[in-house]
Amino acid sequence: MTEPGNKATARATPPRGDLTVETTQQLLWLGRQPRPMAPRGAVGALSDRVLVYARRSHVPAVLRVLGTDGTGLMVIGPRPGQPMPKATDFDYEGPIALDPDAYGYHMATPDKPFLLPEDGFAGTNPTLGDVLDAQLRAGYTVACTPTGYIGAGDTASLCAAAQQVKALNRTDTLFVAALDVSLVDRAFFSQTRAILQDAGCPIALVLGKQGDPLTHSTRIIPNLRLLAATVPLMPICTDFNALDLVAHGAFAAAIGTGGSIRHAVPPPRKPMAFVRDKSPSVLVPELMCWWKGAKISMLCGAAPSRSPRCSCAICENQPLTRFKYEEDQPEAIAHAAATWLDIAAGLLDQPTLRDRAEYWRNICKGAVDEHEMLAKRVRRIDPLPVQKPLKQWADLPAWLTD
Ligand SMILES: [Zn+2]
Repeated sequence: MTEPGNKATARATPPRGDLTVETTQQLLWLGRQPRPMAPRGAVGALSDRVLVYARRSHVPAVLRVLGTDGTGLMVIGPRPGQPMPKATDFDYEGPIALDPDAYGYHMATPDKPFLLPEDGFAGTNPTLGDVLDAQLRAGYTVACTPTGYIGAGDTASLCAAAQQVKALNRTDTLFVAALDVSLVDRAFFSQTRAILQDAGCPIALVLGKQGDPLTHSTRIIPNLRLLAATVPLMPICTDFNALDLVAHGAFAAAIGTGGSIRHAVPPPRKPMAFVRDKSPSVLVPELMCWWKGAKISMLCGAAPSRSPRCSCAICENQPLTRFKYEEDQPEAIAHAAATWLDIAAGLLDQPTLRDRAEYWRNICKGAVDEHEMLAKRVRRIDPLPVQKPLKQWADLPAWLTD
C-alpha cells in the first residue's frame, strides 16, 4: 500500500464539509484499499476481525458458534481484586483478549488515569507495564490497559492516560479508552482525535452514556467514522456500531453479547434494577436490532406462523417467538452471534473498504424497509419504529467523501 500524498493519488478533489484537503485525500486512498492497515506487533493478530465481546458466563454459549477465521474472543475481566482467568481456561483456539473493565469501577483523573492493584507495599505496587505483562503471561494475544472511565469533556484525563501509554512504546497493547460520548461530539471531537492520534498505540474504544450513545447527537456516527479512518481503532463493548466502523476503516471490533455490554455507563455501576420481563434480548436479523423475546411474542400474538424465522446454524429456520424465558438466554446469545458473524464475514469479504461501506449501507437500508414489511405481516396499524442509528447508517452517504 502506498500512503496518500504522491502525485498519482493527489487528484484535485474538493474537500467535503469540514474535511481538509489532506483528510479528503487520505479517505479516498483508504476507500481503495482491500483492508485497513494492520497495527504493528502482536496487535496485528486482531486485524480484520470482528470479535465477540462477552462476560465469562456467556462464553460457553458463544463457543457453540465461534470459529477462528475473521473473529476472536474478548472476555470481560473479573472484578478488581479477583484473580484473572488464564486464556487457556477458555476452550478456544482463536485470538483472545481480556478487557480489564476498569472503567466500570474507576473514574479516570489526570493523576490516576488507570486502575492499578494496590496489594504491594508502598513503592512496590504493580506499574501499568506490570499489569500488561501479567495479561500476556496469562496467555492473552494482546494486553489491554486498565483505563478508568473518561468523564464528560475530561480531555485532561484522556491526555494523561494517552501519554503514559505512549511512554511505554509497546506493540502488544490496546489502549482501552472508555469515553463519555461528549468527547466524540462537536465540542471535543478534534481534541479527542488529536490525543488518540498522538497516543502511538491502537485504541480499543468504548462509548459511555446512560442509554444509547449513538443517539446523543447526529454528529456521533460521522465523527466515529472519521476517527476509524484516521486512528488505529477497534470499537469494543458495542453493538452494530462495530460493523459500521469496520466498514469505515477500524482495524477490528468486538460486539457485546448482552444489552448492558454494548456500551458503558459511568462508575459506580448501579445494581441491576428489578426486571419483570426476564425474556432474553433477541437479535431480529431482518430488522438488525435486538428485541426482548416477550416483545416478539406479543407482536406476533396468537399467530406464531407470522413470527420472524432465522436460518442460522442454531435456529435452523425455527421462529424467533421461541425465546420466552430466562433459560432461553444462552440459545439467544448463540443465535445472535451466529447471525452477525455471518454478516461480518460478508463485510470482510468485500474487495475494498468502500465496497464494505456500500455493502453495510445496503444491509441497513434493507433492515429499515423490513420494519414496514413486518408491520404489515403481523397486521399492525402503527409503523414499527426504526432505531435512530440504523436509520442514520442507511441514510448517510456510504463514504465520508461522497
Ligand atoms: Zn438464528
